[in-house]
Amino acid sequence: MTISRLTKAVFGAALIASTPLAFAADQPALEDSTIETAKMLRDAALKSDVAYDLLESLTTEVGPRLAGSVKEQEAIDWAVAKFKSLGFDKVYTEPVQVPKWERISEAASVVAPFAQPLTITALGKSAATPEGGVTAEIVHYATFEDLQSANPDDVNGKIVFISNRMERKIDGAGYGPAVQARGRGASEAARKGAVAIVIRSIGTDSHRLPHTGGVNYEEDAPRIAAAALSNPDADQLERMMKRGLPITLHLDIQTKDLGTVEMANVIGEITGTTLPNEYVVLGSHLDSWDLGTGAVDDGAGVAITMATADLIKRIAPRPKRTIRVVLFSAEEIGLVGARQYAERHAANIEEFAIGAESDFGAGPIWALASRVNPDATFVVDKMAQLMGAIGVVRADRIAGGGPDVGQLARVGMPVMDLLQNGDDYFDLHHTADDTFDKIIPENMRQNMAAWAVFTYVAADWPGSFK
Ligand SMILES: [Zn+2]
Repeated sequence: MTISRLTKAVFGAALIASTPLAFAADQPALEDSTIETAKMLRDAALKSDVAYDLLESLTTEVGPRLAGSVKEQEAIDWAVAKFKSLGFDKVYTEPVQVPKWERISEAASVVAPFAQPLTITALGKSAATPEGGVTAEIVHYATFEDLQSANPDDVNGKIVFISNRMERKIDGAGYGPAVQARGRGASEAARKGAVAIVIRSIGTDSHRLPHTGGVNYEEDAPRIAAAALSNPDADQLERMMKRGLPITLHLDIQTKDLGTVEMANVIGEITGTTLPNEYVVLGSHLDSWDLGTGAVDDGAGVAITMATADLIKRIAPRPKRTIRVVLFSAEEIGLVGARQYAERHAANIEEFAIGAESDFGAGPIWALASRVNPDATFVVDKMAQLMGAIGVVRADRIAGGGPDVGQLARVGMPVMDLLQNGDDYFDLHHTADDTFDKIIPENMRQNMAAWAVFTYVAADWPGSFK
């Protein structure tokens, strides 16, 4: 924790202890009308199925929407049409240059000593194996760090197998440590002479459905094929290893890199009254992996943020600031749309009052975190108090803003995190099982209610979060 963070935390605690309506001397107070409207929106959201219905529409009418594909373009067209039919004041797109990658086929089997097929999926952006596949002995590492310290002589000519297990945690904290194997394993293995890599899926389920997700190839390493085994298949390999015999795998992965194509971030706005050139950003991403229909990742976020702005437009007095819903392109293959958005708007970052992102599935929101000026902490505390009625507590942590909106935070926009319960998120994440039937309507309403409070208060309180 840095000193400035510590100061903020101490200051925040002091404000929480004072009366709810306390405010800093140089900041405007929260008006009663803002608070009353936020309550009204919260209660109305609990009866609204707009978010649920939008998600049903996106996942049914478009379905999977891999970054750079024809399906992502269909999702962009869907979003523009929806924003327009909902009656947003401004609907527009901004171009994004997206690398296009395609999965063609994927197969794996144990050749010896216990010949049998394995269930795998190519990691996103994986290189292909040579035509006909590769056959090699596996060399096993429990973690990415073990591979890092491995002797190249042990790796050369082999297929690396990393078996680390992701831990289940409410806030997904098990993901970061485990995902190193997926993101960085391929280049590390290739530098040591491996011919391919397979990892245990970065997921918490025990279904025979592998989890895809992006692999990052580093410039100085050959590009080798990278795949994830379903968790039961990783267990199977580990049981085989206990027999002490060398294990030979066959791996055949065919993929295609198809250069760069133009996609778009899609933006819908509800124009503010007295501060129309200041924005409250509601972020999510429109692309998904290709295996499921992207219901929890991140159709839910798209639907929640669109429905929240729509609700405010329909039933509340217009807030002072403009509400800007941004549906980012190509998040899954490396935050491509968000990085280009932040670059494009960095010079005008002063106009971005505050932002938040919905990209952690469709579980209920349980906590609220912020990264704002200490003088604005009393506003966040009031939001948390209003959300208390729907089970949300003030989180004892600094907000990061999420993967996409976090790009704007890096160039100076204050952010909040509406933290969702992610207990089962990584059972479904990046698998063929990420489908609409997993969505619980009541949770979508609760999300909308919390987002309505955040969005309305942030847009109608004229003080500075910076
Ligand atoms: Zn996502």
